[in-house]
Amino acid sequence: MHTPDGFVPSHALPALLPGTALAFAYSDVKMLVGGSEGAPAVPTLDELAGAGIDGVRHYLGELSGVPCVAIVLPNDFTPPPGIRLVGLRALFFRVPEPLVAIGARAFQIVEWDRTHRYCGRCGTPTRDKPGERAKECPACKYIAYPRVSPAMMALVTRGREMLLARSHRFPSGMYSALAGFVEPGETIEDCVRREVKEEVGVDVGALTYFASQSWAFPHSLMIAYTAEYAGGELVPDGEEIADVRWFPADALPDMPPSLSIARRLIDATAARLRAN
Ligand SMILES: [Zn+2]
Repeated sequence: MHTPDGFVPSHALPALLPGTALAFAYSDVKMLVGGSEGAPAVPTLDELAGAGIDGVRHYLGELSGVPCVAIVLPNDFTPPPGIRLVGLRALFFRVPEPLVAIGARAFQIVEWDRTHRYCGRCGTPTRDKPGERAKECPACKYIAYPRVSPAMMALVTRGREMLLARSHRFPSGMYSALAGFVEPGETIEDCVRREVKEEVGVDVGALTYFASQSWAFPHSLMIAYTAEYAGGELVPDGEEIADVRWFPADALPDMPPSLSIARRLIDATAARLRAN
């Protein structure tokens, strides 16, 4: 996920939102949609008002001139007939990609809103801070911003081979690149070297940046690299990693779907290795 073309982000809720504004309303981890099963539609504010639905609003910005707003619904919200709650993943390939990206952005802001209602330092109810996307404690002035957690992804290469691993939670037969969250005090590069060593036991040399991807489950920023193998035997950690192998670039196993940065990283690297 990334900022869609034509999207101008903003956090300043306009005094008047048109009824045509798109409403990305979440109850728990599910988003409210209209339309049919195969073609879900993001409702407008008018449509929500018609159904008597509203909640705390956070402005997101404009997508091609259309205002977009995130709405926090109660966790026990029951949608009226004609609209329903679906997981964000149910929107993939069923609504235009920019709407999925805004839906993911809305999810993270709603999640931040409902997990920062009280000050994490003194327990006082917080309030939205004017002028920025932040919650402020009126008692101790502690400020909480939406959380983004950096994580690294690394595809280790050795000649024309790539190191792919499978986690216990992957669908049967699927392999992917290694990934892990950055720890306090680390650079992304430190994290790549540590995670690769911890998860599969090998050392890596030169790292090359590939791309990054926002991932709303729940608030990661995945930063992807290729890493050159520098030594060591493969030893899966036995916890996160169920199996790890070297695969020739022209004989790859089942892999994650194309929407993921993992798949783009593997495909681009395989193409480069095959051309060598
Ligand atoms: Zn406080």
